[in-house]
Amino acid sequence: MEGEEGYNELKVEEIAKLVQVSKKLGIDKVKLTGGEPLVRSDIIDIVKAISRIGLSDVAMTTNGSLLKGLVSKLAEAGLKRVNVSLPSLKEEVFERITGVNMLSNVVDGLLEAKDCGLNPIKLNMVLLKGLNDGEIWDLMDFARKHGLILQVIELEPVGINDDFYDTYHAPLNDIERWLEEKAIKIETRKFMHNRKQYDLGDLKVEVVKPVNNPDFCMHCTRLRITADGKLKPCLMRNDNLVDVLSAVRSGADDEELIKLFMKAVEAREPYFKEEGICGVRRSTRLKIC
Ligand code: SF4
Repeated sequence: MEGEEGYNELKVEEIAKLVQVSKKLGIDKVKLTGGEPLVRSDIIDIVKAISRIGLSDVAMTTNGSLLKGLVSKLAEAGLKRVNVSLPSLKEEVFERITGVNMLSNVVDGLLEAKDCGLNPIKLNMVLLKGLNDGEIWDLMDFARKHGLILQVIELEPVGINDDFYDTYHAPLNDIERWLEEKAIKIETRKFMHNRKQYDLGDLKVEVVKPVNNPDFCMHCTRLRITADGKLKPCLMRNDNLVDVLSAVRSGADDEELIKLFMKAVEAREPYFKEEGICGVRRSTRLKIC
């Protein structure tokens, strides 16, 4: 949701309108994501406007750098839970990965989120070979100590070049095997891409393995709205976007907007798929990015 000059960015009331329409289609969970949602100066108004609609979930994914000092306002506005990127607990590694020296801000922000009652709080750790793949145990200890959920995420080939992907992509098989052995309970989360949550008794860990994973795509129920007002059926594709911003700005009524949502839903298909298997086409979650 970056605010660039001259950028055709969705306004608060336009976001609210689209969420209202999507609710009519049975979508009642919304996550604000990015880019970075907290760079918008009107983010509190956005959360308020969405929350007023009466959804079962209003969540946010953030890099956490601007969370400190803002959490109580976000919680008052109706934010229920948050996912915070925390790739490393070592300042130099954190800076190398994120490009900014803000580890302490992120940690303070997510502890503030806990104090404000946001729940659950998930730590997003994208595993990067040779950079932070030795830190999983430290991140587990940190999450355990503060009552957070750790999400270990496979690097996706989105928005990065092939060299970067080849250099830093780390498979999650070993950590998954270890979790399988140690878990006292394993939950398969049907509406979360069938991803597994491993309950270690004193800590929950999720493993997010989207790459070359037909099962993950088969259970994908999300639809995205980009910051410039396009419905985006799949994170990996830009050739099937549906423009809703123009329709909203030209005064389209709910029926016309519903048709555009249906067009985007019809365009959905699993990106990674096995021959002969059809994908889930419905959407239950909206991501505003
Ligand atoms: S269909 Fe696209 S958005 Fe959904 S899980 Fe697969 S790659 Fe991701």
